[in-house]
Amino acid sequence: MTSRHLRLALYCVLILAGAVVAGSWAMLQADRHALEESAKRGPEQLNLYANSLHTLIERYRALPAVLALDSELVNALSSPVTPQVQAELNLKLERINGAAQSSTLELLDSTGLAVAASNWNTSNSYVGHNYGFRPYFKQTRSQGAGSFYAVGVTSGIPGYFLSSAVLGPEGQFLGAMVVKLEFPQLEREWSQGKDTLLVSDARGIVFIANQPNWRYRMLLPLNDSDRSEISTTRQYHNQPLTLIKTRTLQSFDENSYLSRVDGPDGPADYLWGTLPLNAEGWTLHLLRRPLASTEDSRNAALAAIGLWLTLVFLGLFLFQRWRLARMRQRNREELEQLVEARTRDLRTAQDGLVQSAKLAALGQMSAALAHEINQPLTAQRMQLATLRLLLDHGRIDDAYKALDPLEQMLTRMAALTGHLKTYARQSPSGLRERLDLARVVDQALQLLEPRLQEETVDLTINLVRPAWVRGDAIRLEQVLINLLRNALDALRDKPRKRLEIRIEANQQLWHLTVSDSAGGIKEEHLGKIFDPFFTTKPVGDGLGLGLAVSYAIVHEIGGRLTACNQADGAQFTLTLPIAQEM
Ligand code: ADP
Repeated sequence: MTSRHLRLALYCVLILAGAVVAGSWAMLQADRHALEESAKRGPEQLNLYANSLHTLIERYRALPAVLALDSELVNALSSPVTPQVQAELNLKLERINGAAQSSTLELLDSTGLAVAASNWNTSNSYVGHNYGFRPYFKQTRSQGAGSFYAVGVTSGIPGYFLSSAVLGPEGQFLGAMVVKLEFPQLEREWSQGKDTLLVSDARGIVFIANQPNWRYRMLLPLNDSDRSEISTTRQYHNQPLTLIKTRTLQSFDENSYLSRVDGPDGPADYLWGTLPLNAEGWTLHLLRRPLASTEDSRNAALAAIGLWLTLVFLGLFLFQRWRLARMRQRNREELEQLVEARTRDLRTAQDGLVQSAKLAALGQMSAALAHEINQPLTAQRMQLATLRLLLDHGRIDDAYKALDPLEQMLTRMAALTGHLKTYARQSPSGLRERLDLARVVDQALQLLEPRLQEETVDLTINLVRPAWVRGDAIRLEQVLINLLRNALDALRDKPRKRLEIRIEANQQLWHLTVSDSAGGIKEEHLGKIFDPFFTTKPVGDGLGLGLAVSYAIVHEIGGRLTACNQADGAQFTLTLPIAQEM
């Protein structure tokens, strides 16, 4: 795996991790939100439940007070109760209990002894039992009324005891009228829903629960005094009380929190709401299992992942665009640099070529010069030796004769150097002197004389003299030398070497033609021969610059240079306007 692949894999993992984080975060937020919403609904429901409990209790609250005013009961307690009175009271209480639909009614005397009860003829009859130890009795005796929730010591059935004092005509305490309420009906009603509903007393002991296994659980640990009080009042009779461990995970407000509960159904999290029931000193609890991730939170997660991926791809897209723009910019800069570098190279190469062309010309010229000068020099040395000999022998006349060829040779050499001087002269560009084209041909031929002779060329010259034109003699000579040298090069291996140079006038123009018998220029080359660097000659022989330079020179002085093929060779035509005589 290359580092590129590794990087790609790393990016993928990062993007995925981001998606997971975004999704979980959104889900957590949605869950939290749902939990808070659910917690907010808690108090409302708690109020409803509290109301139903409150209504139930309130319905019976006045009952013992009203019964305590009954003269029959007051009279019965004023003197020792006879069995007959007791039987009558029992029946009376049974009737009232049936009408009021309370659980039990009982009449206690001033010591707490039950003298009559509505359940007198059941096995759990209260009659004859003493309830002086119950807090509601003590309360009634001291305050006139009492209430107490307890498990019945006789019946074992839990219930809420409401009591009112029965007073004699002078207001003396005669006993207590007690009504007992049981809540199985309420618990059944409450167990319809999925929620757990509990009512705990001031000590945190649950005594009403819509789920039986929650009953008689302690929400708070008991201290010793509580414990001893519970045992004296026998409030929960002999029910075992077990502690439930709770831990608050999150608080929404004072009466609402998320708790981890080690409850009777095993450890679980509950949304726990409480409502104090001040009249009784109790607390109502509503426990609800927080819902597992809902569709809402799943949607939130998907939306968050979608948003995350959109952001990632947008980021990638922008990054890519930025990179592309940067790359383009860099490419452009590189290209510009490349163009600059190439242009520089080209210029150098061009300069080099011009230099080589000059050097080649120099080489050719040196060769021609050496050839041209060596021969006459050798001849002259010999002539001088002959002259010395003739003078030694006093042959003065012969010596004079021998001077002639010497003089001729010197004249020729002088002509040659004279021509070289013109060639070497730097011609100011744009020079337009009036000159004779025929003289230019003479000069060029003179320069090429040795080669013409050596290669035994059959030369025909047909010139109009003088042929006045305006231009630069040296540069025109260069043109002509180029044309002649090309013709000679073409003729080199040909058996018949004919070369013709003509100057003719035609419509205010001089036509100078150079024709050879070398077979001409190939058709496909005709269009290219004036292009710079076009050459068919072997490397080292030709640079392909001669015709291009000639073409430029001729155009510069207002003439034309063309090439065509004729019968047995090529023909170059130089056309120049005829210069008016002054
Ligand atoms: P170079 O002489 O260095 O090749 P030129 O520009 O003078 O460059 O000539 C270009 C080409 O034109 C020659 O290589 C040759 O192929 C062709 N050419 C020029 N003159 C003649 C001619 N008289 N006959 C045949 N081909 C010619």
